[in-house]
Amino acid sequence: MKKLFKSALSSTALIAFLFTLSSTTYAKSMKKTKAKKQYTIAFSIDDLRVERWTKDRDYFVDAVKKQGNKVLVASANASSARQISQIQNFITRGVDAIAIVPFNGKVLSSVIKDAKKAGIKVVAYDRLILNADVDAYISFDNEKVGEMQANELIKVMPKGNYFLLSGSPTDNNAYMFRAGQEKALAPYVKSGAIKIIGKQWTKDWMPTEALKIIENVLTKNDNKIDAIVASNDGLAGGAIQALRAQNLTKVVVSGQDADLAGSIRVAQGKQTMTVYKPLKKIATNAAKLALDLVKGNKVKYTTQLDNKYKKVNTIFLKPIAITKSNINILIKDKVYTKKQLRLK
Ligand code: BGC
Repeated sequence: MKKLFKSALSSTALIAFLFTLSSTTYAKSMKKTKAKKQYTIAFSIDDLRVERWTKDRDYFVDAVKKQGNKVLVASANASSARQISQIQNFITRGVDAIAIVPFNGKVLSSVIKDAKKAGIKVVAYDRLILNADVDAYISFDNEKVGEMQANELIKVMPKGNYFLLSGSPTDNNAYMFRAGQEKALAPYVKSGAIKIIGKQWTKDWMPTEALKIIENVLTKNDNKIDAIVASNDGLAGGAIQALRAQNLTKVVVSGQDADLAGSIRVAQGKQTMTVYKPLKKIATNAAKLALDLVKGNKVKYTTQLDNKYKKVNTIFLKPIAITKSNINILIKDKVYTKKQLRLK
């Protein structure tokens, strides 16, 4: 009896021992798999035909890979329907977060609702998404960008006829840029020094559309124009082409993005300014933001922006105005080499 009890006891002890052993190894292995869990972060881009977005994509992909996570990318190339179906596809594939550069910031409410229902975190990237339950927004201060554009032109052309060549009407940023430009111009318009002879949105931010718009403006105004507040370098390129065709070399023109052609024009004095928005910074920070949201980490936001659904937690990065006199910043930041900018 005693023997039996003893052996029963030892076998119970053994089982208990084995159980503890296996549960600790199990816990250890769980911890390992937990630490090793790979997340999938998706990037839905509006349009890769605009130079900057290819850089945003590359930096974003790099950043997510460096986190040890999986990244999926799709570009809608200026189609709402395509962007919605690409986001739906990300939802079906069970991604953990999606960063979205909306083509049309007003039509994504329903697909974002689906994403949120599926437990996916949604980040508005560079452009705000309206009427939607997005978790966060990361961008540059876009109204400030608009102010910079107008201010640099005012410095060199404090009076005369101004035309506002604005971006795509589907892009919330286009309105922010224009708001900033009009704010900076207001005192000069009020004093009568500057006259705004017209303003127009440009379909899909297309340089070819910008060219046509400026050709018409020149015809309509007998070439009497002093400044074109172009909202990005692509539009500036189209505008400058129209100006050159009329031998108008004194018209001051703004831009944005510090794309290669725009930066060369600034270096050569053919375009008055551009705005440099460090793309590596926004892409890397967006990838980190997406992961922090997935993991429930605390995030430091700069401000909140109303998207007509809620006040969206926002991170704003700093844009930098670039003219011929400080173009070295682009070289110092390794955006371009001197040779690429055709500088000696
Ligand atoms: C971005 C600009 C870009 C433009 C056209 C805007 O929303 O802020 O950097 O040039 O879209 O793609």
